[in-house]
Amino acid sequence: MHKRALVTGGAGFIGSHLCERLLDEDYEVVCVDNLLTGSRNNVSHLHKRGRFSFLHGDVSGPVYLDRPVDLILHFASPASPFAYGRYPIETLRVGALGTLNTLEMARDMRARFVLASTSEVYGDPLEHPQSETYWGNVNPVGPRSVYDEAKRFAEALTATFRREHGVRASIVRIFNTFGPRMAPDDGRVVPTFVTQALRGEPLPITGDGRQTRSICYVDDIVEGVLRMAQADTMGPVNLGNDEELSVLELAERIKELTGSDSRFVFTRRPTDDPEKRRPDLRLARSVLDWSPRTPIDDGLRRTIAWFEEILAEEQEPQAAS
Ligand code: NAD
Repeated sequence: MHKRALVTGGAGFIGSHLCERLLDEDYEVVCVDNLLTGSRNNVSHLHKRGRFSFLHGDVSGPVYLDRPVDLILHFASPASPFAYGRYPIETLRVGALGTLNTLEMARDMRARFVLASTSEVYGDPLEHPQSETYWGNVNPVGPRSVYDEAKRFAEALTATFRREHGVRASIVRIFNTFGPRMAPDDGRVVPTFVTQALRGEPLPITGDGRQTRSICYVDDIVEGVLRMAQADTMGPVNLGNDEELSVLELAERIKELTGSDSRFVFTRRPTDDPEKRRPDLRLARSVLDWSPRTPIDDGLRRTIAWFEEILAEEQEPQAAS
């Protein structure tokens, strides 16, 4: 008998890679997604592998499964500032009600549960790098709070279900992740820079571009999540890359790797945009024996190749007409 996993948000960027990897690990995979920010295209190639099913559903409401699962990976949530700015109430609902519903399922099915939390729980951090013992600097009423506070509440729920109901529940705090299947228009730095560079259009740098980001390739994050699912700890455990780049350096690398002659345009920094971001990975290294392995340039090359295909597909109908 195959082990059975439920991936909420499985038709999204990270979720689709998780579904694929779980199939590689011999799991039967149920992907539930309401397609708010994800796409069926992200998982359409998985149907032919068998043991994969897609359920169109909203986990902020009740979800019914025909059979229990052994593992729940709760990844449903808009994730980029653009996406949660567009869907603020949905973001609060899925962080709160979606997490409550999936934790209740984990309790009733005695399933292992992993919550996808975020580095955004640290807000605009006053401690650098950010370790799991830092409690964060979050504006509870600012525009980003719909995401930050929903995830903080989701963490509180997860910790409480572990304490009160003995659910084998864990929390990973994921830092900026990049790779194939990111939505081209989601406003995050990597897809924005890559698509603009490939189109030969200007790369928008917010502020003076000296603010930093640490970006981690999606395969490494997937490996970390699966190690967490096997581990015996609640966490929270940071997953990300501790190589820190300024936004300007990242733009320059992408420009070079795409061979683009796009210029840079400098625009206003969004409200509460964090100044610095870098995970302290000591806990991930000690409890999960995990570190990011993919060099940033390798990950960027794979991501650029994927966006090249997507942009070419977009142009095909126009070329035909
Ligand atoms: P994504 O938008 O590509 O994927 C999220 C998926 O969840 C989408 O397919 C969306 O349709 C689905 N979804 C949203 N609300 C839902 C609901 N109520 N019911 C069912 N499905 C719903 O985003 P992503 O980048 O893949 O992020 C996945 C998870 O990882 C999120 O929880 C996010 O907070 C977390 N995370 C991502 C990053 C990152 O850099 N990408 C960083 C930190 C944390």
